[in-house]
Amino acid sequence: MKPHTQPPAGEVDIAGALAWARARIDQMDARVLLRHVLQCPAARLVAWPEQRLDGADWASYRALVERRVAGEPVAYLTGSREFFGREFMVTPAVLIPRPDTELLVELALAHFAGQRAVRVLDMGTGSGALAVTLALELEAADVVALDRSREALWVAMANAARLGASVSFVQSDWFDALGDERFQLIVANPPYIAAADPHLEEGDVRFEPRGALASGPQGLDDLAEIITGAPARLESGGWLFLEHGYDQASAARGLLADAGFAQIASWKDIAGIERVSGGRWLGRGPGRGA
Ligand code: GLN
Repeated sequence: MKPHTQPPAGEVDIAGALAWARARIDQMDARVLLRHVLQCPAARLVAWPEQRLDGADWASYRALVERRVAGEPVAYLTGSREFFGREFMVTPAVLIPRPDTELLVELALAHFAGQRAVRVLDMGTGSGALAVTLALELEAADVVALDRSREALWVAMANAARLGASVSFVQSDWFDALGDERFQLIVANPPYIAAADPHLEEGDVRFEPRGALASGPQGLDDLAEIITGAPARLESGGWLFLEHGYDQASAARGLLADAGFAQIASWKDIAGIERVSGGRWLGRGPGRGA
């Protein structure tokens, strides 16, 4: 940053602050961060460009822009990210919810909307985005959400409380600490990136919890563990839906077939990429009682 290019405190207005930031960071990010500092709706930045920032707001804004320049994700800087139309609190203890993951919600709604009672398990809940959304969108859903990270569970619990969702939380490394309850629906957005994938060293993901992203040499270790363990936790007729990487759909279908699932399929995300695979457990087969 060149100090002499900085407008002095008390003299910078919204337009000036945005112009200063746009020379350093993405224009959309500049706006989101300024709205966060001013706690104002997007329209105000457009409608009132000559509004002055006070010294404290200008200092906060500069600090956030500099952190963005250093690579920190906008969602961690503002502490929130929208998912399925609701704002979720996020911290560096949780993966930032992605729009791709809304596909899991849509599939769950397509299969279970209107049913009288649905027991749902969200594995590796992170911010709670999936569990909370399903609890709010699915009438009569009874949702259990697990995570092995205590810090993530605090975030998920705060989101459930803020958004008025009734979710039971369990600290568990996948199935380890679950009781013997069975579910009609299991969803997960597990870690699925290959541990040596250079993508992990680029951009926003560098700041996200590695344990929520990387999963063994092919990125398949956690998907395999969930798929293998799911039959012992599913009611007969229950579904398992899993998010996975852009090139993992056929591997995921293979794992589902090996575990004895029926009606195996993959579904495309908003970018046209097979992003979720799943299957139906019809009972009796490998895994039952395992
Ligand atoms: N889709 C995310 C990414 O590519 C990864 C999410 C995950 O591993 N569950 O950054």
